[in-house]
Amino acid sequence: MAEILTAATENISVELKPAKANPKPGKLFIGGEFVDALSGKTFETRNPATGEVIAEIAEAGAGDVDLAVRAAQKAFEEGSPWRKMNPRDRSRLLWKLSELIRANAEELSELETLDTGKPIFESSKFDIPLSAECFEYYAGWPTKIAGETIANTAGGDALVYTIREPIGVCGQIIPWNFPLQMLAWKVAPALACGNTIVLKPAEQTPLTALRFAELTLEAGLPPGVFNVVTDFGPTTGKAMVDHPGIDKIAFTGSVEVGKEIMRGAANTLKRVSLELGGKSPNIIFADADLETAAKFALGGIFFNQGEMCTAGSRIFVEEAGYDEFMSVLRGRAAKMIAGDPLHPKTRLGSLISQEHLDRVMNYVSIGKSEGASVAIGGERIGSKGFFMKPTVLEGVTNSMRVAQEEIFGPVASVIKFKEPEEGIREANNSQFGLAAAIWTRDIKKAHQMARRVKAGTVWINTISTTDNAVPFGGYKSSGFGRELGRAAIDLYTETKTVWVDLNG
Ligand code: ADP
Repeated sequence: MAEILTAATENISVELKPAKANPKPGKLFIGGEFVDALSGKTFETRNPATGEVIAEIAEAGAGDVDLAVRAAQKAFEEGSPWRKMNPRDRSRLLWKLSELIRANAEELSELETLDTGKPIFESSKFDIPLSAECFEYYAGWPTKIAGETIANTAGGDALVYTIREPIGVCGQIIPWNFPLQMLAWKVAPALACGNTIVLKPAEQTPLTALRFAELTLEAGLPPGVFNVVTDFGPTTGKAMVDHPGIDKIAFTGSVEVGKEIMRGAANTLKRVSLELGGKSPNIIFADADLETAAKFALGGIFFNQGEMCTAGSRIFVEEAGYDEFMSVLRGRAAKMIAGDPLHPKTRLGSLISQEHLDRVMNYVSIGKSEGASVAIGGERIGSKGFFMKPTVLEGVTNSMRVAQEEIFGPVASVIKFKEPEEGIREANNSQFGLAAAIWTRDIKKAHQMARRVKAGTVWINTISTTDNAVPFGGYKSSGFGRELGRAAIDLYTETKTVWVDLNG
């Protein structure tokens, strides 16, 4: 992804053109039907690039969460329950969902770009196709979920085996940076394992989740298997965490809310998996291919306007390679232009909101007051939307706030180090541990460093790559539990042990 991003160096217009997609007012999706909130209230979702209202969205509350949970419980337990459906049929339904995402990819890409402000290039080449692939990948799993037979060492004769069972009703709370992809990462494995779902998209970006709900009807997913409640976190999100009928909460979002969810879920001992923030080190050793490292470093931090938990936001560069690396980085970053997210050539869109832009810009000021200098960018672009120049801070030390706190925007902090030992020590000196990248031509050093970095994903001579088949998640304050791949099957199943006495 990084290479394609940095290839975009043309100066394009930031004039905004109207969208083709025609989003409908959003209702809640409960028990296979679109319904108004019990309160009748709605809230607005806006296009961050223009500030215009895109649609009115139903504002759920605790009562609506309760209805959604009941629908999900019913689909899990009663009639011809989802959990007992022949795995082949579940596979076909997941495959059908992937086909429907592909068939509606153009509309979904546009909705995603309207709601988030991200470039249409990214929604159409990454977010939407990767979401379809996620359903394809998990369509292969229902027929392969199996327990094991275990040799019994307790004495006597017994047959001991395990069964993997779905957990029940899963409450899934997702953020605004990759709305459909985060939905896919959570919904596809949960369904593959036979769970039912109450999903809450972020209040800023409900559109693709609601369009996906329509697609579940078209696919023939039984009513109540998948439900959507749209609203804000402290009300509806909290009501989900508190609801005794929800058996598991899967959350992606900020560290602070992650902690709150963990505390809240303790009351009902819900299973919890958390994918939280990051401050990922991108470590460039002097013996690396510095030009490639610099090109990819830009993708690592500026893809999705830097609104990524895996963003390679701390760029550690070994002194001997510093000048060469920085000259490529500066040259390419300076040419990256923000523009109309719907323009196919745009590679940097709008940040999500005024509040978020203010927060990110404030970090530039904090960096300066701490002694860092702005090598590139550091400014807002225009006054419409929330566009910001790609920003690189130089002269940063790892103890500064701009190196320790997650900025979640297009701001990279470059930190110089003298020798590898110092680089790895400083890279690990962080509360986060989501991902890290290492650039070197020395294969032994690369693997040695990969073992020493405290992070859930380590990229060697690449950055920001994920795959539906590969586990993803964090160490330390970046959360726990692994999504994607086989790991997500563990996340969405309980293990039951069965003992059969064979004595006598
Ligand atoms: P961000 O900083 O990326 O907006 P948040 O952690 O605030 O991340 O939000 C991520 C998701 O968590 C959103 O769907 C949001 O509505 C939800 N959320 C926010 N606060 C709470 C809460 N107290 N309980 C449950 N969900 C919440």
